[in-house]
Amino acid sequence: MKDISKNRKPDELRQMLDYLGVAAFVIDVASAGEFRLAAINARHEQLTGMKHSVVAGRSVDELLSPDMAVEVKSRYRGCVESKVVTTYRESLDLPIGKTFWQTSLVPFFDEAGNVIRLLGTANEISAQVNLELEARYQSTVMSAYLDESLDGIVVVDAQNRIKTWNRRFLEIWDISEEVMNARDGHAALHAVVDQLQDPSGFVEKVMELYVDLDKEEHGVRVDMKDGRVLERHSRGLHGPEGDYWGRIWFYRDVTESHRMTEELRRMSKTDALTGIANRRAVMEALEKEFGRARRLDHSLSVLIADLDHFKQINDRYGHATGDAVLKEFVQIVTPEIRVSDHFARLGGEEFVIVLPETGLGPARQLAERLCQAVAFHAFGGPQAQFQVTVSIGIATIRDHDPSPEGLLGRADRRLYAAKSEGRNRVHPKGDIEDYGSLLSRQ
Ligand code: GH3
Ligand code: MG
Ligand code: MG
Repeated sequence: MKDISKNRKPDELRQMLDYLGVAAFVIDVASAGEFRLAAINARHEQLTGMKHSVVAGRSVDELLSPDMAVEVKSRYRGCVESKVVTTYRESLDLPIGKTFWQTSLVPFFDEAGNVIRLLGTANEISAQVNLELEARYQSTVMSAYLDESLDGIVVVDAQNRIKTWNRRFLEIWDISEEVMNARDGHAALHAVVDQLQDPSGFVEKVMELYVDLDKEEHGVRVDMKDGRVLERHSRGLHGPEGDYWGRIWFYRDVTESHRMTEELRRMSKTDALTGIANRRAVMEALEKEFGRARRLDHSLSVLIADLDHFKQINDRYGHATGDAVLKEFVQIVTPEIRVSDHFARLGGEEFVIVLPETGLGPARQLAERLCQAVAFHAFGGPQAQFQVTVSIGIATIRDHDPSPEGLLGRADRRLYAAKSEGRNRVHPKGDIEDYGSLLSRQ
């Protein structure tokens, strides 16, 4: 390019540069690789805080920090040697902070074809660079999250094309990278539905979410054929104008915590020694059965059984043998009752049996049978055989029983009657205690 700035004084150059809307500067290429700033324009002054009157004619080495001078001079040298327009990005530490620039250097030549002057124009691109950096930061955080997440994650776009997934997603769904790489959301769904206990229910729900773009799901349970339990979370992704971008799905394997919760639930309702229901569980069951019997005007009986002189068994044979007796008692009773009956250990050597649809007569027959079965059983194993007896109190629902506790309390009082009458027996023996409408239901 012919040098129209040739022989111009710095101030004239400056006036020429002021017509440019961008920050501009002129560099004189001196001998021995020295570069002098010939002029900067008003926009340059405004952006950098430098003054044309101060910097004009001074070398780059004088004006810039050593590090920056080295970097800038290598750019200038590159342009001088290549003799073509050179564009690059640079950063500049200014009082306002770190700034980013896209700078172009245009070389000017003397008659011999040597570059004697460079015209630089610099566009500030800090905002754009900062956006790029922010986007890169976000994507770095996102890929770290995807890699490390315990959730299987998949993102699909508005056309149900698969955009992103993580390794855990492949593991949870036992799906291949090839299927995912095909990017077809429907095909991927088809590849996994066979693993579900309820494929059609699952597909139906997923399709609903394709239609209802705003819907969020939190912790929807998904049962797998292999026994695993997953939890599904999902939400629609929307652009700044509310336009639908797609949906993100999270699948969490909650099998273990589910198993533990179930186990805790089971334990909270089970007597640890005998494995039958505990007081809490049977009270719940009794509450239900009581309500049901009331509603349907059906009968309901309870037996409370307490082993006789159990303390003596402990004292004579030891606590472990006492425990074994409690378990053997459960073994004797269990086959005698129906699956719909509720058998529980209330505590110590005291047990309850809730008998739905059972009037006093059949309840008493069962109690007698249990009494005899226990009395004729040889407890204690081959080493030390001994007899154990049990006393049983029976109560049957009455029209005016206000609550299950009343029924239970009556059975308890009758148990103590059985004890005081000599143990190894049931109370009541006859029909006298339960009268009126009750008798007609037995
Ligand atoms: P009664 O005929 O009047 O019922 O006399 P009993 O000795 O059976 O009744 P008591 O209430 O005096 O004694 C109950 C004993 O049961 C006392 C306690 O140490 C024992 N016991 C309570 N829970 C357990 C247990 O889990 N295992 C064992 N081995 N013994 C228990
Ligand atoms: Mg006892
Ligand atoms: Mg007792």
